[in-house]
Amino acid sequence: VVRIEDISVRFGAHQVLSGVTLTLKQGALTGLVGPNGSGKSTLLNAISGFIQPQQGRIFIGDKDLSGKAVHELALSGIGRTFQIPQLIEDATALENISLGLLGQRPGRILASIFRLPRLVQQGNDDLHRSLAMLAEVGLPASAISTPVAELPLGLKRIVEIGRAVVAEPTLLLLDEPAAGLNDEERLQLGHLLNNLKKRGITILVVEHNVPFVMQFCDDLALLEAGQISCHAATSAALPATLLDYLNHAPEQSK
Ligand code: ATP
Ligand code: MG
Repeated sequence: VVRIEDISVRFGAHQVLSGVTLTLKQGALTGLVGPNGSGKSTLLNAISGFIQPQQGRIFIGDKDLSGKAVHELALSGIGRTFQIPQLIEDATALENISLGLLGQRPGRILASIFRLPRLVQQGNDDLHRSLAMLAEVGLPASAISTPVAELPLGLKRIVEIGRAVVAEPTLLLLDEPAAGLNDEERLQLGHLLNNLKKRGITILVVEHNVPFVMQFCDDLALLEAGQISCHAATSAALPATLLDYLNHAPEQSK
């Protein structure tokens, strides 16, 4: 179980999150929806250490991860993607995925980036893990040698998920993975989400495309004006607040 307790974030005079409390069930996929600017990405940034909240705590199981830095949180099992993919554009998909292991073994991964061909001969473990991940997330073999800059947005989002998952996170945070994807790419992402669920990873997905996320989520939470206004399991009838939001929400963010 992941517990996000009473997180508050303020930028100057702008109070963005006001006491966000949210429990993510072990191995479940929770969808987080809410209007533009309600603080969804800020919440992911606070959970993953990219910003330090003024108040609040984060627990994975009974481990208190509050106040830790990004790399410590990555080592503690938090993986994430970004609303705008943050990849090294002139490196290949394989190289970008292998960067997910950087936190675990900086020296070896840096070496693998610069000496890739030699390490292939040596049968490097990290390289094998990255290659296996490339296949698992469904990237074509050509992604081994193609710079990420040449990939469509959908595949970039998938490379980013691969980079997060190769480190075997216990908590995976995805920021609008379906944004800007075409039908085929969205289908591929759907398969991937199902596979990640089977791995037992606890997943929090921020998504504007509500029908898309409803296909996969076990729970749905609504963030409005910096507070969770509703959180419910999708296996039963949804509460009126959520239904009302879903019926009136714009399908795409921008
Ligand atoms: P969207 O659906 O458009 O992605 P969101 O729910 O993810 O929106 P956030 O990106 O979390 O919203 O932003 C919430 C508010 O906090 C916005 O008003 C934004 O301008 C502000 N904000 C976010 N990050 C910062 C920052 N680093 N410094 C100052 N203000 C910020
Ligand atoms: Mg956002």
